[in-house]
Amino acid sequence: MTKTDIYGIFDKGGTLEQRFPSYEYREGQLLMADLVRESYDSNAIVAIEAGTGIGKSFAYLVPALYNAMQNTDERTVIATSTINLQKQLFEKDIPMLFKLLNLSCKVALAVGRGNYLCIQRFVQVRSDASLLAQDPDSELYQLSQWANETETGLRSDYPNRLGEIWSEICCDGDLCPAHKCSYFHDCFFFKAKQKAKEAKIIVSNHHLLFTDAHSRYESNIEYTEEAVLPPYNRLIIDEAHNIEQNASDYFTAEYDSKEMLRQIGWIERSGRYSSHSLLEQLGQYAQDPDLIDRIHDDIHLLLQEVGTLDQFLLAVFNKNDFQPVLIKAEQQHRLSGFVEQATKVAQASGRLAAKINAFLEHNKAPEELDGKITELKVRGTRIASLSEVLSHFCDFTSWGDDIHWFNAESYRNTKNVQVMITPLSIAPLLVESVFKKLDTVVCTSATLDLNDNFAFWGSRVGLPYDEIRPYHSESFSSPFDYKNRLLLLTPSDAPLLTKDNEEQYVSYMCETIFSSIRSAGGGSLVLFTSYSMLQKVKERLAPRFAQEKMELLCQRDMDRYTLLNKFISDKDSTLFATSSFWEGVDAPGDTLRMVIIVKLPFNVPTDPVFKARCEAIDKNGGSGFFQLALQEATMKLKQGFGRLMRNTGDTGVVLILDSRVMTKSYGVYMMRSLPESYHPDTETSGICDKIENFLYAD
Ligand code: SF4
Repeated sequence: MTKTDIYGIFDKGGTLEQRFPSYEYREGQLLMADLVRESYDSNAIVAIEAGTGIGKSFAYLVPALYNAMQNTDERTVIATSTINLQKQLFEKDIPMLFKLLNLSCKVALAVGRGNYLCIQRFVQVRSDASLLAQDPDSELYQLSQWANETETGLRSDYPNRLGEIWSEICCDGDLCPAHKCSYFHDCFFFKAKQKAKEAKIIVSNHHLLFTDAHSRYESNIEYTEEAVLPPYNRLIIDEAHNIEQNASDYFTAEYDSKEMLRQIGWIERSGRYSSHSLLEQLGQYAQDPDLIDRIHDDIHLLLQEVGTLDQFLLAVFNKNDFQPVLIKAEQQHRLSGFVEQATKVAQASGRLAAKINAFLEHNKAPEELDGKITELKVRGTRIASLSEVLSHFCDFTSWGDDIHWFNAESYRNTKNVQVMITPLSIAPLLVESVFKKLDTVVCTSATLDLNDNFAFWGSRVGLPYDEIRPYHSESFSSPFDYKNRLLLLTPSDAPLLTKDNEEQYVSYMCETIFSSIRSAGGGSLVLFTSYSMLQKVKERLAPRFAQEKMELLCQRDMDRYTLLNKFISDKDSTLFATSSFWEGVDAPGDTLRMVIIVKLPFNVPTDPVFKARCEAIDKNGGSGFFQLALQEATMKLKQGFGRLMRNTGDTGVVLILDSRVMTKSYGVYMMRSLPESYHPDTETSGICDKIENFLYAD
């Protein structure tokens, strides 16, 4: 594909304008498409910030689709962070481009294995609970109806909410005998895998991308061979601002006591739908009948040890309000109690795994129980892998740079503990397992560039990694008319939260948030940085919203999908939300007239991974605050700000109730990263008039 081809498609009077009635020429889109084309031509890595509204998906899809048509031995993987974008590309954007540009090539959607229904496991559960499966009100019955009709077997296509049953019926690589399975030819997962092998473009997600990269890295599998994904040589990563977080999550080794109990439960408790446990079903076939009793004994001992470790760690968490705890190398000497108990868990797991292996080696189970035998083996292996994390944690000589930390997680009114090991930096892993291996890597997002500089994002992911490999970074600004269509208000007298003024602070927030929303007539998204502050404001404001008959929606009142649908369908509603809602909320038009940012989104200083990474920068002579905390917060602020305008015709208000944006030099730095908007001076008393005049004056 040539530069002329790109101009022929995206330029004024080009193919898209001729064939797509609502197409608007955007210079940024054209230039981005040409840069992506060049990266295919020159085997380069590019980082592109594509401002909201430039149409970045078309800009990377067109060169990728042409490449697929012209180079049939090549394959491009497109990885997104969210399922919404993945679906939009696969179901909407690619089919539309095929139609508009008369293109055609095979495209497949690739999601993780656990998203597919496993027919074999489902049939087993159904036969274990045959009576329940006939009750039309039961979840099992409804699932059966769906399983008969679904073409994809994808969990996301199931129309109702799914509970924990999914873990018993989803595809699980370790339990799957592949072509030996009697349902192999109808298997949803293997059919999807086959489609991916035939496709020239695979639309996937960050998680599957890192699963594939990790398995290639660990097993030395080249990208010319099949691993989790088929062979491929070009990669486009959208929502690339999330790479560090998503890769860190993926590469974190984790012992989770809830997961340990779940694996033990699979072995020795009857299932939700089966009246016999795995051991009961297999026990009669043991060559040594005492072995089953000894396995039971080991299980009970392991349960005790896991419980004691939980109690030990929960006592630690109790003292610090259940905040996660970073363990530094110099604190190792204080870990003797933990090491003693964790070692007991690891030893008990080892003994159990050895007895399970002895049973597996010497049993007389008939062939029809092969599936159960495999399951017992898998449960034993998973118990051993979980306890390996504990052993690794307790081996202080292996710590290196890794971040070691404890976490407590709430689950149905109980707390369970997690013992985690996270890489200090994922950059070397990404460079070695992804960037160096592929011909082209395009990383794009609406937020990669901070004040004309990609250095922060690049340093976190390892780009550029040397001077030889072609690497380009470029920003294409949004075509939106922020100066005339977006009113930015930053009251300079907004109080800051301190130890002594919480009551005054919460009162200020409640009054200012409520009066501003009333002036805007609803249609507001209020972004908090902590759920506890959201709760405090909600408790005080909910009666006032009710009194004024204004709809108030709050995160955790319902699932995210339902919440967003309600918010979008009622254009005068207000949504209070935290963390994940700072990005991914797409409410174009009148539905969203105001975004209120309650506090600058700095990461919690107690987050162990963040804290360890900041400290490592400080230790090397840099500044953790300026080089990490500030940059991360600025990216997140840009994301939150970006919720307001989604289309050229959108207009509205962004209200930032954190006066540090005006009074601190780092606040000014953060403001500079936002698109230039209409930003009059204001104090709190002038906010309401300004909102009303901007939104409603003729
Ligand atoms: S092939 Fe594997 S995933 Fe597919 S139905 Fe059989 S066991 Fe399940």
